[in-house]
Amino acid sequence: MPAKGYVEISVEGCKGCELCVTFCPTKCLAMNKADTNSFGLHYAFLDQEDKCIACQNCAVICPDAAITVYKKVG
Ligand code: SF4
Ligand code: SF4
Repeated sequence: MPAKGYVEISVEGCKGCELCVTFCPTKCLAMNKADTNSFGLHYAFLDQEDKCIACQNCAVICPDAAITVYKKVG
């Protein structure tokens, strides 16, 4: 079973392109449609933490390097 993960997404660093949401294999990311950053853009967030497997797809695909992936240990 893969290690479970956690991601931090920079609210101000996200430009709302939704690539990470599209390419997450477990569909645990979502766009915050109710809020915007200071640029007026909807930003991505970790919607279902229990589903993140720390695969790094989102961090690799993000054009603005706004995502940091952590592997949970133990
Ligand atoms: S690390 Fe993988 S599973 Fe976790 S949010 Fe990013 S793409 Fe999805
Ligand atoms: S790929 Fe990066 S810039 Fe695009 S929505 Fe995700 S976090 Fe934001």
